[in-house]
Amino acid sequence: MHSNIDRRKFLKMTSMGAVAMTLPLTGCVQTGFFEKIFKLAPKRPNILFIMSDDHAAKAISSYGSILADYARTPNIDRLAQEGNRLENCFCTNSICTPSRAAILTGQYSHINGVNTLQDDFDRDRSNVAKLLQSSGYQTAMIGKWHLHTEPSGFDYYNVLPGQGLYHDPLLKEKGKPWKKRNAGGEVYPGYVTDVITDEALKWLENRDTEQPFFMMCHHKAPHGRWEYAKRHEHLFDGITIPEPASLFEDKSHRSIATQNYGSTLSSKNPIRNRVARMTDPKKVWPTGMLETEGLTQDEITRAAYQKYLKDYLRCCIAVDENVGRMLDYLDENNLSENTIVIYTSDQGMMLGEHDLIDKRWMFEESLQMPFLIRYPKEIEGGSRNQDISLNIDFAPTFLDYAGVPVPTEVQGKSIRSNLQGKTPDDWRQSMYYRYWMHRAHHDIPGHYGIRTKQHKLIFYHGLPLDANGAKQETSPVGWELYDMIKDPHELQNVYKDPTYQAVIPKLKAELLKLKQQYADTDEKYPELMAVRKSHWD
Ligand code: CA
Repeated sequence: MHSNIDRRKFLKMTSMGAVAMTLPLTGCVQTGFFEKIFKLAPKRPNILFIMSDDHAAKAISSYGSILADYARTPNIDRLAQEGNRLENCFCTNSICTPSRAAILTGQYSHINGVNTLQDDFDRDRSNVAKLLQSSGYQTAMIGKWHLHTEPSGFDYYNVLPGQGLYHDPLLKEKGKPWKKRNAGGEVYPGYVTDVITDEALKWLENRDTEQPFFMMCHHKAPHGRWEYAKRHEHLFDGITIPEPASLFEDKSHRSIATQNYGSTLSSKNPIRNRVARMTDPKKVWPTGMLETEGLTQDEITRAAYQKYLKDYLRCCIAVDENVGRMLDYLDENNLSENTIVIYTSDQGMMLGEHDLIDKRWMFEESLQMPFLIRYPKEIEGGSRNQDISLNIDFAPTFLDYAGVPVPTEVQGKSIRSNLQGKTPDDWRQSMYYRYWMHRAHHDIPGHYGIRTKQHKLIFYHGLPLDANGAKQETSPVGWELYDMIKDPHELQNVYKDPTYQAVIPKLKAELLKLKQQYADTDEKYPELMAVRKSHWD
């Protein structure tokens, strides 16, 4: 702060510049002068990033879905009323660990090295917390980490081992010997969503108030197996949750690639289906078994849906209450003006649409991420943004707000001006998606595709490739195309419809362009190139 360059930079940065310019710039300024002024200058914003796990946009009332009257989330909704709600925010690889790595690095999975749940995040890599920390932010990570290796770039962390527990969770605190993945931790009595918030508030209370903070507060909820807090046990008694239009979808319109794959709510696929797990006495379903005796197949699907949704939404309500606690803390401590608050989820979630549970799919419900952001200094209350934004945009956006240069290896773009209603002229018109963990756990085949505002084209290549944890069996190859304007629920695959034959080659060319742009060409996989050769056109 004592060289002329630093002073010039400083004066440019501060609204005190006009006053300070009247003072001599060299020679007679006593030591400490600029430091004193700096304290009067506008502070860099705090960044509070609250992320839950598997919270579909549809289960946030602000998004106005058929669940809006049931998934009441007044506190999360406050962020939309007082800030901006993204309508087209998408995950680049819709599954927990990979999305978390993409958020931290601003890079696609194949670049940051976390393609699947099994991949360890390399803690020596650059990440957004490290960049903010080295620029003078205090950084903290509380809650679900799920990247296997010890968090890096955080002054403080206290994280769940692996998936963590809903009741009386263990937490692994910085300063104690790190144990990988599911190992380690000490018991914190209580319900996990409350405990994570308690720990986050504790850190905020003890932070250095002279420095801006960057906090990642990551909830475990509403991840399966949806163990709700005792206080919400009777929340939906006597209520029937509305069913999605596609709960009993006739899948004959689909490609052969998806007709028989994926975890379903119905019992047509008994090994994989949710009902089997909810009714298997050996599994001891934590929120109670599903009674199916005497029910028809359709009734079982309906009953499984009701149970799934009620458990899931009870978990969401606890998240919302705890977001409220965080917002109250900011209000009570005069931090709301200068703190950017984000609420998002690591991806979306299938809530019975297409008779599906889980995420991973490029179907809209798992592809879409909820994203609500409040920053009164820049973002108008009640604003909405329709631009295509991605999880890899989060890191560069935070860096932009903090005045930290975005490294060239970051693939996402800052959405700061988009949030102010000023979309850059060259903003992306399409997004690239890729799911790697072929047929693992939920039997969802490997696929990639492109989403524009109107179309979604998906290529199910059906290969395990070298993805960690992928099932070493192929599945049928197929293409699916959906018209997102005419068919937002994706109930009609129009890949073979004559009306769309002109647009398909254009979408395929754009898909290849995106693969080139993000350095995810398939040349390193001869088996995939062979599949492409026989199925591309
Ligand atoms: Ca997740």
